[in-house]
Amino acid sequence: MSRTSPSAAFPEAARVALGDAQLRANLRKATHTIRDKRERVVDEVADWEELRAAGRAIKERTVRHLDVWLERLEASVTARGGIVHWARDATEANAIVTSLVRAAGADEVVKVKSMATDEIGLNDALAAAGIAAHETDLAELIVQLAGDRPSHILVPAIHRNRAEIRALFRAHLPGTEGLTDEPAALAEAARRFLRDRFLHARVGISGANFAVAETGAVCVVESEGNGRMCTTLPETLITVMGIEKVVPSPADLGVMLQLLPRSSTGERMNPYTSVWTGVRPGPPDGPQRFHLVLLDNGRTDVLADEMGRQALHCIRCSACLNVCPVYERTGGHAYGETYPGPIGAILAPQLHGLKAATSLPWASTLCGACADVCPVGIDIPGVLIHLRGRVVEQARSGGPAAGPASERLGMEAMARIFAGRRRYEAAQKLVRAGGRPLAHGTDRIERRLPGALGGWTMSRDLPAPPAQTFREWWRSR
Ligand code: SF4
Repeated sequence: MSRTSPSAAFPEAARVALGDAQLRANLRKATHTIRDKRERVVDEVADWEELRAAGRAIKERTVRHLDVWLERLEASVTARGGIVHWARDATEANAIVTSLVRAAGADEVVKVKSMATDEIGLNDALAAAGIAAHETDLAELIVQLAGDRPSHILVPAIHRNRAEIRALFRAHLPGTEGLTDEPAALAEAARRFLRDRFLHARVGISGANFAVAETGAVCVVESEGNGRMCTTLPETLITVMGIEKVVPSPADLGVMLQLLPRSSTGERMNPYTSVWTGVRPGPPDGPQRFHLVLLDNGRTDVLADEMGRQALHCIRCSACLNVCPVYERTGGHAYGETYPGPIGAILAPQLHGLKAATSLPWASTLCGACADVCPVGIDIPGVLIHLRGRVVEQARSGGPAAGPASERLGMEAMARIFAGRRRYEAAQKLVRAGGRPLAHGTDRIERRLPGALGGWTMSRDLPAPPAQTFREWWRSR
């Protein structure tokens, strides 16, 4: 069994991203626009907090009995003429989809934007089998034409501005010589390019935002209408869905469809919400064959961790990315993962195993903005701290550590000093003896500290150690 693996460690990748001023400007503009819109439409809902609590409760209940709901979903989809496939990992999922496309006699497919298929590297697997996958979401098309990777859950090309997109379209799309960088002109160019592909595709591939266990209905929300075309025009529809996307009932879907659009695009409802249930007998109306691939790829391992499993509650709205000060400065590529930002920092290390992504739980300032906006109330900072603890435990038992050895040794020395009164007081005396001469009679040490500690004092003064500690003051009375 294999899983897709994460790339370089976050600190090195982030350092490179921070040097790109254009990237930071693009990210700042885009994230602030979306988060301001979100704030406005969320403020309109008087019972937003109750709605969030309901969303959280639905997810907790579903994940607690995930096996039950998944079997129920399988039975419902099968009863309505669909075929359910179970994939333990990326390799199995890719093999299933490839064989289904071949069985349909197709050598190209149209795709709806899907994080699950990005996660398993489906496009590469199809290409290796001689099958061309055409992304039809505008941003995914941009990413595909550029040979790039998505950098945001909702806006995969958030790192590119209009001028860059125009240059890309001019280079790759026929008849675009006079193209301007007006958004409407760019969208029209993409629409013309994609129309022919929609009309000729025999297989459509989608992800799923939700699937309803009681009815077998599968739901995709999107803004451009390309998803509706992919899920209705081809004869065969294949949906690849992470197993955590199931919800028990249509009423639960109703709650999620209120939470998702306001949190993701800052809209009251999605422009396109497609819900389909199996296949329809009789004259052709929509796909004649429907396959649902249920993807595990590490998710059942996540279930074993009571604190960490709340990462599976995520509905991929991306609100946490748009408010995260770290994401805003580094962008999504630095995370080296399909799922970037705060949710990626708690999901990826659990899906791949902590040994493969030790630095991601530290890709946060723990400011808590992500938890404040999460529509299903995931305690992201709490899970980050929990995962940091697991990385430290892992390093103690000989596994890979997150930071440099010097930091680890420093922390272990601090732990020993803080564990005993005598050691603690001796350390205070030592710091005072060394620090007060550097303060030159003031209450600040204005000199930069040496080595790795210099980063801390680059923009701050270090307070001078006091002439008397609290304990000494207390004893003197
Ligand atoms: S963790 Fe919460 S805020 Fe972030 S993408 Fe998932 S649901 Fe949205």
